[in-house]
Amino acid sequence: MTTNQSTFRPALPLIWLAFLVVSCGSEDPAATSPATTTESSVDTPVSDLLPHQQMARDFLRELIEIDTTHSTGNTTIAAEAMAAHLIAEGFAAEDVQVLGPSETKGNLVVRYRGRDVGREPLLLLAHIDVVEADAADWTLDPFTFTEQDGYYYGRGTTDDKDEAAIHIANLIRLKREGYQPDRDIIVALTADEEGGTENGVIWLLKNHPDLIDAEYALNEGGGGTLRDGQHIANGVQASEKVYQSFTLEVTNPGGHSSLPVKDNAIYRLADALIRIRAYDFPVILNEVTQIFFERSAETEEGDLATAMRGILQYPPDPAAVAYLSRIPFYNSRLRTTCVATMLDAGHAENALPQRAQATVNCRVLPGESVDAVQDTLVTVIGDEQVTITPVLAAILSAPSPLTPEVFNAIEGVTEEMWPGVPVIPIMSTGATDGLYLRNAGIPVYGVSGIFSDIDDNRSHGQNERILIKSYFEGQEFLYRLITRLSRSDEE
Ligand SMILES: [Zn+2]
Repeated sequence: MTTNQSTFRPALPLIWLAFLVVSCGSEDPAATSPATTTESSVDTPVSDLLPHQQMARDFLRELIEIDTTHSTGNTTIAAEAMAAHLIAEGFAAEDVQVLGPSETKGNLVVRYRGRDVGREPLLLLAHIDVVEADAADWTLDPFTFTEQDGYYYGRGTTDDKDEAAIHIANLIRLKREGYQPDRDIIVALTADEEGGTENGVIWLLKNHPDLIDAEYALNEGGGGTLRDGQHIANGVQASEKVYQSFTLEVTNPGGHSSLPVKDNAIYRLADALIRIRAYDFPVILNEVTQIFFERSAETEEGDLATAMRGILQYPPDPAAVAYLSRIPFYNSRLRTTCVATMLDAGHAENALPQRAQATVNCRVLPGESVDAVQDTLVTVIGDEQVTITPVLAAILSAPSPLTPEVFNAIEGVTEEMWPGVPVIPIMSTGATDGLYLRNAGIPVYGVSGIFSDIDDNRSHGQNERILIKSYFEGQEFLYRLITRLSRSDEE
């Protein structure tokens, strides 16, 4: 396994410098805003929604209530539901396609035609499949759209049906306004981002690359941070950790449980997992996370800000490492992480286990070798009876170049909507489908303008929810961003 360190290191410093210069530039919001009259619309009470907001809410509701899990769901139904709205608004049938490798794994690709001035298309990507959700674990039904206490609840409200619904509502809003972009705007709503074997982005790249070919793509993976309801920073994902699961297995002759022996497959596996729990991978900052902590330190106060500055020292201040390691959000930006996620052991309650198996999911820093991570686990476990095998080969993902065109626009819209709130580049800890596009030569930026509390990330978890106010802010942000990115006079 090779690392992408060689492509990562030389590319970034100059690009980051460009980004920093871009960040300091100012623009006249009044001259560039496509929709200053709706500036206050994001504060509209939820009972009094503007037509495009009502649309975004209705589409989100519709998507949440269609089961699109891998086990029992169907993304084709969700794709067709959104396609029907587009057709009803007058989009040409040839520009609204539902297609995929199988009946239950459909993807929607829609093309909003622009003037032909030689610009390559802009691609907006969102996945419409969701992680499994067991209703028994939730206090609300995961597949019922519930509005409560200023939040929309339901599986997919933050990952990633919110962006899917927003993109469709925004395309319809633009069409109703008669907007003429100077490039095609493509929206792709895809299957199997969260698992499954019929990943929509991979399938589209392989079978219909022309449909989604673009200069660059906007995707999930970014988003803003709220603290006590205040907008702190707007994050843009340009890099992501590499996803790698390992299977740990112990086998044993077994026997009758009335004659137990100490050498037990379950105990051995449990010991191995406890050693992994106790181990922390070393702290390694890269260019993205270094700027992330530098900029974040300016938005923080007290011990946290001190720790962020301490982590930037060389070598990092141990107190800073300890402080940030206790906070999952920051810990995951400091190091590779590996955690036990699944267990499967034994074959009968009255038999000694012949086999015990666990899945350990690692999120590897870009630039770090996945093989080296496996070697580290072997050393940490220190028991040759525990075998460790990769579940699937990791797919490396190089960071996307931060072009001024994209970052000017993101900075500009952020400043319009939330004056003084910095744009902070982030390394995402979760992998997204962006990596397939990146590997196909299409740069990907995770950006949404959807803000959430730093301590309230429930994607993949119970009672997933999105702040209603943030949802509509994100809709407005993306609307302004895609118009900026599709009007030559803005550059
Ligand atoms: Zn997602």
